[in-house]
Amino acid sequence: MCETCGCNITHGNVELAYHPLEGGTTTVGALNRLLAANDREAAHNRAHFDAHGVLALNLMSAPGAGKTTLLEATIDALKADFRIAVIEGDLETENDAVRIRAHGVPARQITTGSACHLDAHMLHQALHDLPLAELDLLFIENVGNLVCPASFDLGQHRDIVLLSVTEGDDKPAKYPVMFRTADLVLLTKVDFLPHLDDFDPVRAERCLRELASDAPLYPVSAKKSINMQSWLSWIRDEIISVRQALPQAAVA
Ligand code: MG
Repeated sequence: MCETCGCNITHGNVELAYHPLEGGTTTVGALNRLLAANDREAAHNRAHFDAHGVLALNLMSAPGAGKTTLLEATIDALKADFRIAVIEGDLETENDAVRIRAHGVPARQITTGSACHLDAHMLHQALHDLPLAELDLLFIENVGNLVCPASFDLGQHRDIVLLSVTEGDDKPAKYPVMFRTADLVLLTKVDFLPHLDDFDPVRAERCLRELASDAPLYPVSAKKSINMQSWLSWIRDEIISVRQALPQAAVA
């Protein structure tokens, strides 16, 4: 948790961190203040999404689990039916946003510097560069990290966690906060499974269920187009579900 690793302070909220607190500043007090401010900003972001009927999906995983590759294939499959944009989070470089833009949709890169997660303030700044009124679907690719991103609400509607088969099949047991948060878990790169003798998909799902999670778990390969329809259907269903929960004025 970020209460202990100290990564709460980002360029998006640094002013809040060092603003003097009434009655004197304590570390715990400052961190609580940052998390409370993050939650308020996340609610503000969610109000933006809801006002425009935009489904916001937050993708989280360890580095290298295939988030950007999944998004590239997903955009190609859905861009004829939905207006899509992407917010990319990485410590440095514009590389992932460049990859996404090559698929014909707007992408805004957030570079966090040393911060290992996105927070609601950073996301809000990026939202001003996107045409929310012209979107149906916003993907947020969080910084590759299985710990801290789970602690920061961004205003998203759903959390998706990727677990690649080139990682350990006990990751849900080792990182319970992240996996317990997930509305959907994607087992990625399953085209590698025939070449691996140390990843058991059954054990991975058992570790997830032991967290009392009933989130769907879909095995997919974006590169080899394996089982992508399950994931794409889930997105279509969630767009309908979130819009049905909104006042009709937002989705007219
Ligand atoms: Mg990426």
